[in-house]
Amino acid sequence: QYLDAIAEKNGGLNAYTLVTAQTALEAAKKVDEKLARGEALGPVEGVPMTLKANISTKGLETDCCSKILEGYKPVYDAAVWQTLREQGAVLLGKCNMDEFAMGSSCETSCHGGAKNPHDLSRVAGGSSGGAASAVAGGLAAYGIGSDTGGSIRQPASFCGIVGLKPTYGAVSRYGLIAYASSFDQIGPLTSCVEDAALLFDVLAQKDPRDSTCVGARCKAVPNLQNSLKGKKIGIAAEYFDGLREGVQTALEQAQSVYRSLGAELVPISIPEIKYALPVYYILACAEASSNLGRYDGIRYGRKAEHYTGVNDMIEKTRSAGFGKEVKRRILLGTYVLSAGYYDAYYKKAQLLRRKIRRAFQTAFTACDFLLAPTVPMTAFPEGFSGQDAVETYQTDICTVPVNIVGLPALSVPCGCDESGMPVGMQLIGKAGREDMILNAAYQYE
Ligand code: GLN
Repeated sequence: QYLDAIAEKNGGLNAYTLVTAQTALEAAKKVDEKLARGEALGPVEGVPMTLKANISTKGLETDCCSKILEGYKPVYDAAVWQTLREQGAVLLGKCNMDEFAMGSSCETSCHGGAKNPHDLSRVAGGSSGGAASAVAGGLAAYGIGSDTGGSIRQPASFCGIVGLKPTYGAVSRYGLIAYASSFDQIGPLTSCVEDAALLFDVLAQKDPRDSTCVGARCKAVPNLQNSLKGKKIGIAAEYFDGLREGVQTALEQAQSVYRSLGAELVPISIPEIKYALPVYYILACAEASSNLGRYDGIRYGRKAEHYTGVNDMIEKTRSAGFGKEVKRRILLGTYVLSAGYYDAYYKKAQLLRRKIRRAFQTAFTACDFLLAPTVPMTAFPEGFSGQDAVETYQTDICTVPVNIVGLPALSVPCGCDESGMPVGMQLIGKAGREDMILNAAYQYE
């Protein structure tokens, strides 16, 4: 059924960049046989799903939607895919994304952007736009994406689905092609909260192959039914600045739903949020410039055909292989790390990172979790992101703070704007407390 949906709709949505029909059918057949024998199935067994193109799959092209990794087939599976594969998940294919996960519209992909199933003239969001488009369009039961500064939550919000970014260190990054290692985290994009909770419980496991991975500190599924009576929900004024009208209205309605569920809304302030965007773009670019140094035409993917020496080869490979946005970030990152500028930019941003972390810790002394918009607007029209990089960066204002401090957050649909496009609300939890935000999202849903 899903393969039929892909055949019918992927031409318009551009959600998948690679479809693995044959192996999907084989994997499904095994599950069928098991069912015929009357054996019970595990939670993800036989469920057709998709992976973002930056999650390594052994022997299967994993190109990060970059020309530089064209044809690259990893020799090992990412931890998350290993877990899912071993538990009988059925992989339908790899999904479109912004090149190396750098972008907010999926349009920096070398394969062209993924479209929004609610309106094909709008983007699916980014960077995990393909996975969001696939799930919202009925082309997969769920997708696995990565979130460095909002790449799961923002496309989930734009496409009207659920997207969870777990606490930094909850899910193994082993085999996730790195963008900014101290921010990157893998998580699910699903059509309902229960699926997100179920996948969190499956995926959040300690992994010695990722030294920052400690696994889950809570169980999500058994806590979905908890009552919200007496729970304190922080409303930080800074998140509500400059929202589009439709988003503002939907968020106000969500707050009254929580009031009627017995929760208390607590107005708070986190002024440090104003530092979040510059801190994110300085640190993420710095880490990216280092992580992307490995694409030299020798170890992975594509190599320039004509060159005169090794330096010329590297230069030609990187010039032709990376797209404009990736080059911009490598340049920015190299600049903020260079002697003479390091103290003014990189070091200062690191100090501010600590300050923002402390501000969130203080905020959580007054409440159990925060409610905020996921994005100040609904899905952009196609081409918006290509116009002005800084303007596009600014739309990440509500999603980047939690990546800076490592907290869990999820986006849940909470209505539509005046043009019928979905609006997402964001629930932000204490470190290790995915159960609380999933519970709150489930009660809302
Ligand atoms: N839009 C953000 C960026 O361009 C987020 C990307 C991400 O989370 N991978 O960096």
